[in-house]
Amino acid sequence: MDSMITNIIFLFIPFVILIGFGIEIYVKNPSNPMNRDTMILMLSLSLFFLGGLGVYVLPFEYARPSALYVKYASVFFSMSIGLAFFSHVSRIRMNRALLRILRLLPMAGAAAIYLRMPGMTLLLENNGGWPVEQLDSRLWILLQLTAAYNFLLMFVFLLIGRKQKRSTKRRFKETQRLRIMLIGSVYTVAWALLTTAAGYAAEPYLNGPFHAALRSELPAYCILVWALTVRYAMVKYDFLAAAGRKFELLFRLSNQGIALVNAQGTAVESNAALHRILGLPNKDAADGIDLVPFLQTEEAQPVKQLFVEHFATLTPIQTELQITNLLRETLILQLDSDYIELDEEMLCYLVVRDITEKKHTENKLRKLAYQDSLTGLGNRAFFFESMPPLLDGAGSGGHLLALMMADLDQFKLINDTLGHSAGDQVLQHVARQIGRALPEQALVVRLGGDEFAVCIGLNEEAEAFQHAERVMDALQTPLELFGKIYTVSGSIGISFYPEDGSAPEELLRNADSAMYVAKQSGRSRYYRYTPSLKALAERHLSLFNGLGRALENEEFLLHYQPQIDIAARRIVGVEALIRWDSPELGRVSPDQFIPLAEETGAILGIGDWVLRQALGQARLWHAAGYTGLTVSVNLSANQLQNPHFAGRVAELIRDAGVPASMLCLEITESAAITNVDKSLSICRELTELGVSLAIDDFGIGYSSLSMMNRFPFRYIKIDRSLIQNIVADTRDADVALTIIELASRLKMIVIAEGVETPEQLSLLQDFGCQEAQGYLIGRPVEADQVTALLRQDTPTLPPAA
Ligand code: C2E
Ligand code: CA
Ligand code: CA
Repeated sequence: MDSMITNIIFLFIPFVILIGFGIEIYVKNPSNPMNRDTMILMLSLSLFFLGGLGVYVLPFEYARPSALYVKYASVFFSMSIGLAFFSHVSRIRMNRALLRILRLLPMAGAAAIYLRMPGMTLLLENNGGWPVEQLDSRLWILLQLTAAYNFLLMFVFLLIGRKQKRSTKRRFKETQRLRIMLIGSVYTVAWALLTTAAGYAAEPYLNGPFHAALRSELPAYCILVWALTVRYAMVKYDFLAAAGRKFELLFRLSNQGIALVNAQGTAVESNAALHRILGLPNKDAADGIDLVPFLQTEEAQPVKQLFVEHFATLTPIQTELQITNLLRETLILQLDSDYIELDEEMLCYLVVRDITEKKHTENKLRKLAYQDSLTGLGNRAFFFESMPPLLDGAGSGGHLLALMMADLDQFKLINDTLGHSAGDQVLQHVARQIGRALPEQALVVRLGGDEFAVCIGLNEEAEAFQHAERVMDALQTPLELFGKIYTVSGSIGISFYPEDGSAPEELLRNADSAMYVAKQSGRSRYYRYTPSLKALAERHLSLFNGLGRALENEEFLLHYQPQIDIAARRIVGVEALIRWDSPELGRVSPDQFIPLAEETGAILGIGDWVLRQALGQARLWHAAGYTGLTVSVNLSANQLQNPHFAGRVAELIRDAGVPASMLCLEITESAAITNVDKSLSICRELTELGVSLAIDDFGIGYSSLSMMNRFPFRYIKIDRSLIQNIVADTRDADVALTIIELASRLKMIVIAEGVETPEQLSLLQDFGCQEAQGYLIGRPVEADQVTALLRQDTPTLPPAA
């Protein structure tokens, strides 16, 4: 009975240990097929002890099948499973069918037992109450042969595996694992041989059930030795355990390409994402991927150099790289790397991100941020981005740069009268023309509104003026808008690098100053910046800024200049002339600020104020009994384009409570023809109100009387420049006479402007000119002084010639 218990203990403990190993290994990493295989191997090995246990614990008639069909058959199973496991661990690469046959061969022993082939059996003797196994000699030989085959093949597998690992320098832990298994297998065989030999040698001395049990079971414990080393290898060198497992998951699941790259540029390990990026078919790249060919494109060449240098010093790489992959796609990659020592070899741990899409979006956004969508030119931001390298280039190359700033003349008028879509077309036209006029390397941008800037390299300053002239010529190219032909003009300011500034802002500011002055001095011209220009431009800027506030600060006032009936020597009218008393600039002439107000649009508010003010004064004079007096007010083109203008005039007249006939509106020829149809209809509305109209500054410009005949003008004002010379210059006198005669035929009243001498006045009287205005009669003065003149019965006027 003692022996029975001893045997049970001898068999039960290994059985439990093997089951435990199996579970332990499996739990360690359930998703790894290798761990699962190991568990199956352990369970299969445990059958050997389970079958042995059955011999002792089962009733006698079941003891024999338990020994034969479980215990001995399991030896064959285990050997097949073991071979499968080892070929797997060693990553044996050979003909699959052959490998399968080699692995399944031990199973033939189990099959022979189950098929009850002759000799595949055993006897179980009942030796004094406890069973003794008697293997048939053929089964015994088969067992020995199979075991020999098994171990031989196992060693071959392990050795091949180790050699392979060494050559491809694969995972360090895998190599370690193989080493342990190899050593374990040696121990196993040694154990089996030693215990068997010891058993034979000690046979004479062994007596009693304990010794018998020892002798029969100890060799079988080689299974346990073997299982122990397998377990140790699987658990201790489970390269997928814990931290390593995290890495493996990251490696596998990451959509960023990850690779371990050796010094030669071979990715010895790489994930699926990297294969995708490189356009490789996603098969096991066990031999590693040579990355060098991907670095052959021109863009990638410097990265190769970078890699070599960084590898030598183990400095991490962080760079962007453009490659062409195997699918002929051009990709932009972000590389980040660090270094790691594995299996005594230094490797570069490389993370590769495909940022092609991101780059494209970035470029698109960049383009949006730097491009003027209307003209396709660069914008202000682009200008300031592009300037520094140009300045650097000019600085080191020792050549000049010209910065030209161009601004369209009267663009606001175009926008206001023809609408914004016309304005857009003009800007596009201008962008095209500027581009055509200049060499290709010139940087042309639209700074905003109707402002353009050009930066161009030069050998000498004179070239800049040629370019400016070419631009102005190009701008003259006619443009069709709504079926009509227009031309635009621009004013250009030029500054030079390095003379006029070293920073883009400064150059631009100075070109801007020059441009302002160009505009001031009569438009459609170019100016080169000089420091003295700066003062002018600054004054212009103060004008510009001051004008914006002048109306609400009540800095404007009106002067009135008398107009007389020449024959009667009696004041019949006054012209309201605006004055601006600027706190910073003093009194500013309307010639200076009216054009600016027209450009900024401030003229609309100012014009309205003038009308209201003049009508208020007219009411006073009317109340004082000067009911026949005409008060003339100057209009700007912008006012005449406002379709509600006539309505507004009517309203103001009503508010003032004066007869409409007291008001005369002076319109220049150019204002009248800016948009003939529109201004004509407004003029008609105005005359319907009872307001009279005068054509101002006649005799300069077109002076087309027939054209003027279409407009309901009551007065023609001959320009001062013509009157000035009528005494000395007979040609001017002829022109004046012709105008006067034609006008009288057209039933218009002629007013001569700028009459300064009695000779001029008497000549005009001879010509039949009805009215006159000028310093001779009276300068523009405040309303009170005019009232004083009105009271005097024209005593200050020169007597009739
Ligand atoms: P304008 O309409 O031709 O006005 C006549 C200008 O000639 C006035 O200049 C006046 O002072 C000046 N003048 C008159 N008689 C003589 C003379 O005998 N000799 C000389 N040398 N000059 C004489 P001012 O006041 O400087 O006005 C200049 C221009 O400003 C005006 O020319 C007119 O076009 C514009 N302006 C003045 N007030 C207004 C206004 O309220 N609205 C608008 N839109 N324009 C105005
Ligand atoms: Ca006038
Ligand atoms: Ca005038």
